[in-house]
Amino acid sequence: MPNLVHIEHAPPSYVSGIGLYLHVPFCQTKCPYCDFNTYSGIEDQITGYVRSVQNELKGWGILLSHPPVRTIFLGGGTPSYLPTNDLENIHKTIQSSFKVVESAEITMECNPGDVTSDKAASWLASGVNRISMGVQSFDDGLLSLLGRRHTALEAKQAFRTLRAAGFLNQSIDLIYGLPYQSAEQWSDTLDGAIELKPDHISLYSLQIEKGTPLAVDVAVGKYPVPDDDLAADMYEEAQSRLAENGFQQYEISNWAKPGMESQHNLIYWLNEPYLGVGPGAHSWLSGQRFANLKSPRRYVTVVGNDYKIAGLDPVAAMQTPAGPVEQIDITTPAIDIAETMMMGMRLNKGVSYERFEQRFGVGLDIVFPKEVERLLRLGLVEITDNALMLSERGRLLGNEVFAEFIGDEDDS
Ligand code: SF4
Repeated sequence: MPNLVHIEHAPPSYVSGIGLYLHVPFCQTKCPYCDFNTYSGIEDQITGYVRSVQNELKGWGILLSHPPVRTIFLGGGTPSYLPTNDLENIHKTIQSSFKVVESAEITMECNPGDVTSDKAASWLASGVNRISMGVQSFDDGLLSLLGRRHTALEAKQAFRTLRAAGFLNQSIDLIYGLPYQSAEQWSDTLDGAIELKPDHISLYSLQIEKGTPLAVDVAVGKYPVPDDDLAADMYEEAQSRLAENGFQQYEISNWAKPGMESQHNLIYWLNEPYLGVGPGAHSWLSGQRFANLKSPRRYVTVVGNDYKIAGLDPVAAMQTPAGPVEQIDITTPAIDIAETMMMGMRLNKGVSYERFEQRFGVGLDIVFPKEVERLLRLGLVEITDNALMLSERGRLLGNEVFAEFIGDEDDS
């Protein structure tokens, strides 16, 4: 258990810049494996949603005195499913409510089924400079099993259309460890990804999430339970294939061409401040973690009207009955440290001893002496360049390592 005596709690300030996440809860169709806060068939809410996020953005801009924004991430859901004029209006409100730095990375998640040359031009014109495309597989049978609304060929065409339109920073997401997925199919999907020459690749192993249609299908035996050993082999295959093709792994699930790492996700992994806007969006700001009203309908009902935003504490000001914030989590030094470790250890470069001490006023070796010693003994971590990082073996057993850093308030 960590030694958390006498730790300063100085969460990073939002004044020096934040990441801004905007949650779009709409999808044209709902994929059977997905448990995100997203819905199909609620398009009647889009107009109210756009008005509400604009209200919320303006409110935060005033309360936080228009802080600098270093990255913007439009996620969901399917932001590319929103009408382009709505996206343009949202971007304009972001620009007028915050100081978006000139070099800001502005990412939009995109479904290949939505891409046309005209839309790509409009997204670029509204300021998006990075696309994260949910491809998932280049096998049509597996795409159908996943309930995706695009084929492998359409995904390739969409990627090329975006490139031709001028997107110079494109990421693709793939999923492995699927029911019936063979090693050969995975290898072919990796070939398909490498051939497109993306700038960034995210790989996720399929998680069977409780309550999803896929979980039901697996429970009743329609689909086999995914094979963890085969999934681990697929991960290792991806590691070597991507390295051979010039991608550098910088996080457990992420690879990039040099200099093309996701700046927005780095904010999460470095446990730096971010603001989430939209239904169910989470924030870490001003030393507090909090979440917005989850239901899109409720969010629109509450935030779609003008609401009072006065108060000394910005988060409390947004948690009135007429504000978007629904839940504020208690944050303590122990929680901040545990989260800094859990997220930082996902990065290949690990957690820097120097950075840790600057942030918490005490050395990592003082807080976690026994934990680090045990993990070193088990060969799950290593210390290089004054940073604690996962070893090759530790990367396959990440959860075991992260658990070591989860403290207990009573320890202090
Ligand atoms: S498109 Fe993405 S967010 Fe929407 S249902 Fe499918 S996986 Fe979920």
